[in-house]
Amino acid sequence: MRIGIGHDSHRLGPGGPLRLGGIDVPHEKALLGHSDADVLLHAVTDAVLGAAALGDIGQMFPDTDPTNQGRDSAEMLTAAWQRVTAAGWRLANLDCTVFAESPKIGPYREAIRDRLAEILGGIPGRINVKAKTAEGVGPVGREETIAAECVVLLEKT
Ligand code: MG
Repeated sequence: MRIGIGHDSHRLGPGGPLRLGGIDVPHEKALLGHSDADVLLHAVTDAVLGAAALGDIGQMFPDTDPTNQGRDSAEMLTAAWQRVTAAGWRLANLDCTVFAESPKIGPYREAIRDRLAEILGGIPGRINVKAKTAEGVGPVGREETIAAECVVLLEKT
């Protein structure tokens, strides 16, 4: 078995919807970045690559490459996951936390979990998505940023 950790954060700017966990969440702000800035999928991508010792998302998809501009992060996670499964690994479980003052993630967590299961070819019961606010404190609390962390466990096929 192998364990991997992922973390990411992106700046919030005006104009929704919010792309998070591979779905569009209605919101008046969006995450800004070179790709679609989906912090959760970026954290998951780093975690699965890390667990398989295959580097990181920045190596696979450099932000200096114009083809990655505005890119769907689900495509990037799919490509990373293909490398991980080709190396002989499958998903044991994935646990994620999103740090966001708003919007409330609760109403969307099942849709996000289902989308993650779809991308990873896993069963939703092996995937968990949690959310925390920052109680108004710091860059998350001031709604300047949204961050995500996750831990993944892989097992040999
Ligand atoms: Mg990122």
